Amino acid sequence: MKKTILLMILFLFFLINLPDQSHAAAGQSKIILDGQEVILPSDVQVTVINKHVMVPIRVVAENLKFGVDWDQKSHSVTIQQNSKIISLHVDQREARVAETPILLDVAPQILNQSVVVPLRFVSEQMGLAVSWDNKDKIVYLTTSTNNSAQTEASTPHSENSEQVSLTHISEINFLNNQLVVSMNGIVTPIISNLKDPNRIVIDLPNTTFGDLSQPLASGSMAKLDVSGQPNVSEVRYSLFNRDPDQIRIVIEMNRDSIIQVNHEFIGDQLIIDLNDTGDFESPIQEPLAGERGRKIVVIDPGHGGSDPGTISISNKYEKDFNLALSLKVQELLLKEPEIEVLMTRDSDVYPTRTERVQLANTLNADVFVSIHGNSVLESPQANGTETYYYQRSSSKQLANAIHKRLIKAMGLKDRGVKDKSFQVIRETKMAAVLLEIGFLSNISDEKAMLSNTVQYKAAQAIVDGIKEYLSIK
Ligand SMILES: [Zn+2]
Repeated sequence: MKKTILLMILFLFFLINLPDQSHAAAGQSKIILDGQEVILPSDVQVTVINKHVMVPIRVVAENLKFGVDWDQKSHSVTIQQNSKIISLHVDQREARVAETPILLDVAPQILNQSVVVPLRFVSEQMGLAVSWDNKDKIVYLTTSTNNSAQTEASTPHSENSEQVSLTHISEINFLNNQLVVSMNGIVTPIISNLKDPNRIVIDLPNTTFGDLSQPLASGSMAKLDVSGQPNVSEVRYSLFNRDPDQIRIVIEMNRDSIIQVNHEFIGDQLIIDLNDTGDFESPIQEPLAGERGRKIVVIDPGHGGSDPGTISISNKYEKDFNLALSLKVQELLLKEPEIEVLMTRDSDVYPTRTERVQLANTLNADVFVSIHGNSVLESPQANGTETYYYQRSSSKQLANAIHKRLIKAMGLKDRGVKDKSFQVIRETKMAAVLLEIGFLSNISDEKAMLSNTVQYKAAQAIVDGIKEYLSIK
């Protein structure tokens, strides 16, 4: 009997010292958050498990001023980020983000009494830009509140941010002017536009081929079947470089036209969108509805789907308020014969901010209006309406035209028109504003904002402001 217990203890001992965990980063690891070193308790480390960089979640979350709760009984961690609640379980790959289940690369684990989670989770679910310096064992975290978020496609910053492991490419497809690359990680593509012949070269640093569903032909080069793709004559890919490994994809274009290339990650897929601008001389697109002489207005109800935005004082979601008001704006704009109205969403779904920007830019819209509700849970007395624009004078003009009417319609405190760098108004190319209609965290603001009658007044104010800006009577 005693022997069995001893064996069990020994067994447990070995379980705890799994080989994967034992080569947890030796030496000092560091976490740099927005340029400042995060002080790690002496036994807390950044570690590498199954080739995934794991970071201590409590230290990270606390330094970001998020609420963190550890439930000993269920072995679960709850992180409260504004209104978003993230819950993780030790040894379970499934986590929940705002009620939506997501799958982690590696389950959270307990190491030296602290819970570590994959770095990629921190980047994707907590909205931080991350990179990992494998040589010096440094994790760099950057919050995205006032960054110029989008990584430039052409800036290879791979010297510092060396991936700890190779990302495996499992599939490459080309359809409808989009190249879709499936992989088990995230890489920053380096995209170059080359001439003679007109081609786009996409380099994927630190990548190699995984279980490719399509076979590689002789050697390590292969071509995709692009028959039926009018703009493209060839798409080929190869393991271009070894050590560090790098896959290169080349798209040869049929025509000498200017190509705008956009890229983004949706899940594990890198999507590279080729926008044929049609003309070599003038890259300016014909306005979509221009022939009919109508102005294009894009209304953007903030958040949606898995992203609820803020939560109001009576527990209503900002996303629902944004949509309710936006649909009223749409309803009124549909009656305007000189305006074509388009919505970035008209139901409870979440387009990314990049997708919202792309929609407006692709449409060559004249006006972009993003609708939000504000909130400061810690100070429920904060109240009022504010309108944001970013730098452009056209945006400022639109902001002023809408704001003065919105103040009257809402009857809330006037917090003014402000210049601030939000992605959707920074990266859109037309007159663009972001409206913070009022504070959902304030009792009387919330009451006005959730009233149908007031929403119609606000919608009319927004429409009238847009019309003034567009000089429509
Ligand atoms: Zn919002």
